[in-house]
Amino acid sequence: MYVTAAFIIFILGCGFLGDRLITHFRERKHEAWLRFPSIEEYARKTQLSRIQCWHCRSYSIRQYGLEARNDKRRIHACNQCNTNLYRTMWG
Ligand SMILES: [Zn+2]
Repeated sequence: MYVTAAFIIFILGCGFLGDRLITHFRERKHEAWLRFPSIEEYARKTQLSRIQCWHCRSYSIRQYGLEARNDKRRIHACNQCNTNLYRTMWG
């Protein structure tokens, strides 16, 4: 009986810790996203006439969602050298 109870508590504890861990990693990801410049900051910082990669000067820039394809938090990266450039928000 005790063994079963201990086992159930253990499983619940694991679930709780797993949840905390996932939340922690998601927060870290979000903080990392916030550290990218916004597109306005990027334009100001790079002083380029058009938005382009500061690293290789390519105009070919792709974007992707932070955690999933349809994530509203977008990261824009250079297609040529893969450098992450700036962040935007959908909608
Ligand atoms: Zn580049």
